[in-house]
Amino acid sequence: MPIVWRVGYSPNMSDVIVIGGGLAGLAASVALARMGVKVTLLESRPRLGGRASSFEDAATGELIDNCQHVAMGCCTNFRHFCRVTGLAPYFRDEEQLTFVGPPDPSGRQLPEFCRFAATPFVPAPFHLGRALWGLGYLSLRDKCAIARGLLSLRAARPQHGDRTTIGEWLDRQRQPANAIEYFWNVVLVSALSESLDRISVAAARKVFVDGFLTNRDGWKVSLPTVPLDELYSGTLAQWLAAHGVEVRLKTGVERLVMEGGAISAVELRNRERLAARQFVLAVTQQRALSLLPESIRNLPQLATIERLETAPIASVHLWFDRPITLLPHAVLVGRLSQWGFNWGAGRGAWGENTSRPRPSDYQVVISNAREMAERPQADVVADVVAELKAIWPWAADAKLLHSRVVFEHHAVFSPLPGSEELRPAQQSPIGNLQLAGDWTQTGWPATMEGAVRSGFLAAENLLTKIGRPAKWLQPDL
Ligand SMILES: Cc1cc2nc3c(=O)[nH]c(=O)nc-3n(C[C@H](O)[C@H](O)[C@H](O)COP(=O)(O)OP(=O)(O)OC[C@H]3O[C@@H](n4cnc5c(N)ncnc54)[C@H](O)[C@@H]3O)c2cc1C
Repeated sequence: MPIVWRVGYSPNMSDVIVIGGGLAGLAASVALARMGVKVTLLESRPRLGGRASSFEDAATGELIDNCQHVAMGCCTNFRHFCRVTGLAPYFRDEEQLTFVGPPDPSGRQLPEFCRFAATPFVPAPFHLGRALWGLGYLSLRDKCAIARGLLSLRAARPQHGDRTTIGEWLDRQRQPANAIEYFWNVVLVSALSESLDRISVAAARKVFVDGFLTNRDGWKVSLPTVPLDELYSGTLAQWLAAHGVEVRLKTGVERLVMEGGAISAVELRNRERLAARQFVLAVTQQRALSLLPESIRNLPQLATIERLETAPIASVHLWFDRPITLLPHAVLVGRLSQWGFNWGAGRGAWGENTSRPRPSDYQVVISNAREMAERPQADVVADVVAELKAIWPWAADAKLLHSRVVFEHHAVFSPLPGSEELRPAQQSPIGNLQLAGDWTQTGWPATMEGAVRSGFLAAENLLTKIGRPAKWLQPDL
């Protein structure tokens, strides 16, 4: 029987109730628990991790991630979160990426494979100059235009209220069509999951400046070596338990109860009430408003949340009867498939009797997947498999044993021009209520880093309020 604290009489009342066990709620809980605050974390689903989670594929028995989640070197807060909680050893940093050039229109030539890595000892922002030079499918004119464009973007200072999209900005910069399609589009769509006509200049600038221009390590990709569920519902759940956090799964919150101008309790879907002194609401932006008391939903600081638009991401999981490439991952340029990940690479033991992914299990990620929403999944799988076999023709005979498409309709918020003005601060208009989530004001797009930042910021506000101020937000690289 779960222990339930009722409003007003429990001597064991939590200091803080955190609602939502995604990365934002987890980061807030970690920061608070480390400072000795008594936290109860409520999560409606049976697992932690929110949008970064896994599920069991019934056909294979494997635990598969809803989508491959990639962190970059510039994600300083996500990395700190992993270090503090003991998750860091379950990530591997990639020292190089492979870009696979666009398909040859005649179909006669194999695509170009280009290694992308920083040149040793060359300082930022020039450390990736040689890597850009090595993208052989771009012409000299394209590369010079991209280098010029990157330096202009770095110098740009997008003004508050500017409604220019990065697509318009690139046109004004007279970027050649191939440079836009095979470089700018490739990086931005995979980072922000939107088309160039729906990305603000500020959001695009953030990707390139933080990821590629400021620090030699900002671009480096970090990948989990175990399913996300093992990270968050496994190792992290143990860390939380050891630090006194009470985690209650399958515990959906129906609403926040307000009394005397402050939040006094949460009411669960089963009508139970839990009281606390402080609250962190770390659910998605689609759910946040509906949980808030009606009297404050229309406050100007909060009402804007529902105008944040979202973008979908699809991931296509493929199980072949044999490996089709030994590359751990590849950026696929000019195709429906955008990133390919060898799901089994580096994931430990595999064999006939294990449910571990094998080196013949792949995952293809398609960001900004709106056009896919209407298509039958079998067609999408067929197109993706045809693309992979055209890239690696020696795998033409590989048999597809099983496939699965995971389509996340509201994967991330769209970084449209003006979207920054719609994001609320972590400190809500109610003194004892913090908001957290990748959609709050973090200065970052919807990412694991943004979610963790929001949790740390919410925790910092809360710790100051209860007289135990502490710094959690990590500096940029
Ligand atoms: C397909 C896909 C691919 C992505 N790829 C990447 C990537 O490669 N790199 C990257 O950095 N980011 C990626 N992201 C984005 C990243 O996953 C999110 O930005 C981040 O996980 C958001 O965390 P969050 O805590 O803000 O929100 P969420 O993870 O959405 O957490 C909210 C939590 O609140 C819970 N909840 C909702 N309502 C209630 C309620 N009433 N009561 C209790 N609990 C409730 C939900 O169940 C959920 O667990 C991807 C996202 C998706 C969907």
